[in-house]
Amino acid sequence: MSINLGEKMKRTGSIFAIFTTLVFSTAIVNAHHGVVAITNVNVIPMDRERVIENQTVIVKNGVIAEIGDEKKVRVPKDAVTVDGKGKYLIPGLVDMHTHLLSDSDEYPDSIAPDELRVMVANGVTTVRFMIGTPELLALRTKSAKGEIAAPTIWVASPHLTGREQGNNFVVKTPEEAREAVRKSKAAGYDFIKVTTFVPAEVYEAAVGEAAKQNIRVVGHADSRFIGVERAWKARQQIEHLDGYMELLLKNDAPVKGSVSDLYIYNPDNWKSFDHMDESRIPEIARKTVAANPFVNPTHHFMKNSFGRLRTEEEIRAQPDFKFYPAKVQQQWLDFYKKNRFINTVPLGKRARWVDLREKLIKAIHDAGGKLMAGSDTPEFLWLYGFGLHHELKALKDAGISNYAVLAAGTRNPQEFLGVLDKVGTIEKGKRADLVLLNANPLENISATQNRAGVMLKGKWYPQTELNGWFDEIAPKIAGSYHEPKTANN
Ligand SMILES: [Zn+2]
Repeated sequence: MSINLGEKMKRTGSIFAIFTTLVFSTAIVNAHHGVVAITNVNVIPMDRERVIENQTVIVKNGVIAEIGDEKKVRVPKDAVTVDGKGKYLIPGLVDMHTHLLSDSDEYPDSIAPDELRVMVANGVTTVRFMIGTPELLALRTKSAKGEIAAPTIWVASPHLTGREQGNNFVVKTPEEAREAVRKSKAAGYDFIKVTTFVPAEVYEAAVGEAAKQNIRVVGHADSRFIGVERAWKARQQIEHLDGYMELLLKNDAPVKGSVSDLYIYNPDNWKSFDHMDESRIPEIARKTVAANPFVNPTHHFMKNSFGRLRTEEEIRAQPDFKFYPAKVQQQWLDFYKKNRFINTVPLGKRARWVDLREKLIKAIHDAGGKLMAGSDTPEFLWLYGFGLHHELKALKDAGISNYAVLAAGTRNPQEFLGVLDKVGTIEKGKRADLVLLNANPLENISATQNRAGVMLKGKWYPQTELNGWFDEIAPKIAGSYHEPKTANN
């Protein structure tokens, strides 16, 4: 979801800290690290479903300079050599829906470069931040200049919403919406983000102005105000499968709302699962693909935050748990134990919701849709970087082939972003954002979590070094937490 939905843990309203001065390390990261040769490796180029065995990949100045049979490609004398024997090379991973802890008041902006390194250390080399801030725009520039070791960054605008939620444009009239779009475009945001409570005519004004300003609209499709059909007409790229459950609701159902978006918190809306017409799914999938084939379900986050509940043991065992301070850890453990919503929705209803989501994901894929992987982290004790791998696994579990899941995490997002000619597959001339795996992800998608190293814009980082980053950064992030100043919770 675009904002932290936990009733207690709601992000404070004043995260739009425009005037905060960012403090960054002045160390310049050398993005292009001379010549690197990855020898004798199995390449999964992601141009189509195939593995090219025994290849040597030469990277120069941040770009793939040559790929060929390891017997034929000459490795330059000055090259740093990475032994790829028995390993698998895939394009760098993309997280199409993420945020930073430092977007909120509880964490200082100074941890942002470390947050971005957590993503890199997980093999995530491109990210889209789904709620924009001026700080994120500054990080986008620093990343592009190679001043920080960070993924390539795309930033959606502060979200357009009908109600104050923090880090937003509250738009109640068509003119306010147009103004928000113009301001976002002028500030340099890459997309217009829409969330909740925006009246239909205000949404239409935003869509119209966005077309005029040549900037795409992405985000939620609030079922009570906008709805998926209106978002389809606007060719909006929809996040979370927002609004889709309402499309499945039978016309004569005694309840009108289902569980999309913030409405997930109303236990009454979960009764809708007694009144679903899943025979509509193929047609919904076809219409989705016709309107905008790029769909970012953020399925793992939805499924594992609301569909099935983690035990305390599972939460404590997560490798990303240690990035949170003890106080926040405890708040969430308590949330799962005590929250009224969590305790009132029957497990059968939750399972039905997950099942319908997975049928939709599969149907959209089968109809020619281009799924994109998005973690919607950091929320509910799921952290960025780590979360992307969970999403790949969740898409697989929805019935998608390993190749299609890898496409959702690599080439599809780059195609959506309009840069597939530069990055997103392993081909000569493309940016050397790469991940080296110890096992074949086409056989088991969890191989993305079994890494030998990451190449970021041509610079090679062995995973042993990246694991050291986790150990170094976790206490820094956890230790930077402070109580929110505004009493919003
Ligand atoms: Zn989000």
